[in-house]
Amino acid sequence: MRGKDKRDKGMPRVGRTWGIRIGILLALVGAWTTVQAQMPVDDGTLTLRPMLQQLGDRLLKGKQGSIVAIRPETGEILCLTTNSAHGSDVSLAIATPYAPGSTFKTAQALMLLSEGIVTAETTVDCTNGFTDGNIHVGCHQHRSPLALPAALAVSCNTWFLSSFMSMLNDDFVYENQEEAITVWSNYMRSMGLGGALGVDIPGEKGGLVANVNYLNRRYKEGWNARTILWAGMGQGDITITPLQLCNLAVTIANRGFFYTPHIHRGTTEKPLAQRYLRRHTTKVAPDAYAPVIAGMRKAVENGTCSSINTTYPICGKTGTVENAGKDHSAFIGFAPMNDPKIAVAVYVEHGGFGADLAAPMAGLIIEAYLKGSLSATSQAKAKRIEGKVTLQLK
Ligand SMILES: [Zn+2]
Repeated sequence: MRGKDKRDKGMPRVGRTWGIRIGILLALVGAWTTVQAQMPVDDGTLTLRPMLQQLGDRLLKGKQGSIVAIRPETGEILCLTTNSAHGSDVSLAIATPYAPGSTFKTAQALMLLSEGIVTAETTVDCTNGFTDGNIHVGCHQHRSPLALPAALAVSCNTWFLSSFMSMLNDDFVYENQEEAITVWSNYMRSMGLGGALGVDIPGEKGGLVANVNYLNRRYKEGWNARTILWAGMGQGDITITPLQLCNLAVTIANRGFFYTPHIHRGTTEKPLAQRYLRRHTTKVAPDAYAPVIAGMRKAVENGTCSSINTTYPICGKTGTVENAGKDHSAFIGFAPMNDPKIAVAVYVEHGGFGADLAAPMAGLIIEAYLKGSLSATSQAKAKRIEGKVTLQLK
């Protein structure tokens, strides 16, 4: 009590009231920030499909990462499985910001097309990767020059870096680089990136989409086009959670809209809150979707993820994300192409090439959902993936 008396002494009444209010506020903020991401208990009101959950758990064995699947038409979460060294951990899917790598080239292409920086026919020469001043980024062997759908299908770094560079340096369309970055970041936010989506699971955190304020704070000595350029290939000042990656696939499947992802079904006793029924429209020009979807289809037909090509048309994009240690393996996609029933994102830490692990895992989830079961060949594939261990125990 003595201590309390001392503390209060000399403090004007108004200040004390405010002190108490601030104290309460801090306590509330503390309680809020310690909310742990935890999966709700399935009491029969969840939108998850048990078959997909079981398959997802199997595929993630021995790995650290997430599988998220959403029904594009409604925003219902069909599958949400995670695994880590300590078992399932939903924060990996809804609160862990990852570099999206080349999966982000889809969003980037939509933005570039909408802004008129490129058309679907714009070709870029790529013989020896991308060079600008002292920056050099390699590319893999592919035909050159390529237009957008093929550039997406083979994931040409040069196409994406040089197109973004043209935008950032376009002083005819944009007053300055600040304006170009603001336009870029507004497109990305409209696709559900750069902030929490509002999923009905506590503890969600969104990834980062750089804007002018952020860049000024982060790069105190100044920044230019070369600073932010890396975002054009999904590295640097852009991070996305697996939930947001899946939602990005949803917006593409839907050709321009999404519903806030949710894990609870509406019932007569407990209808869904209005915010899950409101359609969010992206800023992307409606005609930008066709060439990007064509590129994602091409990636599965004969590009980076041809191993998952099948009779029902899957559209997809792989990502192989550089980081300390072995690369992360990522994939986003949806199917069927013109009547999408499911959108999927897979992110496996240290899983290697996107095509090696994330894409086949997504392919199996899509097959199980669309066909109701896995073929014998796919069962064997699932077993092989189940046996692959990429988890790095510390
Ligand atoms: Zn290239």
